[in-house]
Amino acid sequence: MLPLRQETDWNYKRASYGRLSTRHLGVEAGLGTLGLEVNILTPEFGPRVYLTGILTELELEPDRALTEQVCIGESCSRCLHSCPADAVLHFGIDKRACATEAQEFGFSTILQFFERFIDAAREQKMQMARSRDLFGFWQGLLRVVGSFGDCPRCLAVCPVGNDYHAHLLDAQREIPEKTPEKVALGKAFKERRAKGEGIAGLDAWNVRWVGPDGYRGIVARQLQAFMQAQKRRSETGAEPISGGSE
Ligand code: SF4
Ligand code: SF4
Repeated sequence: MLPLRQETDWNYKRASYGRLSTRHLGVEAGLGTLGLEVNILTPEFGPRVYLTGILTELELEPDRALTEQVCIGESCSRCLHSCPADAVLHFGIDKRACATEAQEFGFSTILQFFERFIDAAREQKMQMARSRDLFGFWQGLLRVVGSFGDCPRCLAVCPVGNDYHAHLLDAQREIPEKTPEKVALGKAFKERRAKGEGIAGLDAWNVRWVGPDGYRGIVARQLQAFMQAQKRRSETGAEPISGGSE
């Protein structure tokens, strides 16, 4: 049995949010822990994973949740530095701000567009019908493009995972969105944690999913094992592996 609680504040959401959080189920299943931007991070693939769940009445032996924090934490803050919407909080997220980038053509935006459309004058309606927004909604409804997961930044820059080192390191090393203000915010987060100040994302309820033991170098250990595996394969003339396990 998994102890589940709905974490969604329904006032923040008008659509596209389920009742079962697969991120939290993933943590309970021992796949990883939640990062600074509250994506689930797995040691093998960082936040670049999709999860799903199967509901069953079978009695199964559960895996243990990781107690070590997979996210490097405030001293990394690369997700915060990259976020175009300033949505990354201290092990939390401003969902409204994130949605402006990640759900540019999502269901809520469609509703807002048509609420304005109904009240618009004829000439304005004609302009709206020819707008980029309407094309975006069509793409979103047809191919899901832009309706969710439209912003890849916090996923792309996270250095956790073999796949980052195999495929993303060179392209994502520099973060163009990084500003002195974002760097200062990451440092302020670090200081608050070091001082033991109350942090909502790490309170007694939430720390369960972040990793109650804190960060203890799991990313470095994972990377070391990955590099050794790559070396062994190159010595035997085998193709280098592109992520995951050997
Ligand atoms: S998906 Fe984009 S907007 Fe949302 S938190 Fe990540 S970087 Fe920020
Ligand atoms: S980018 Fe850094 S701070 Fe953000 S989730 Fe990944 S490891 Fe954690």
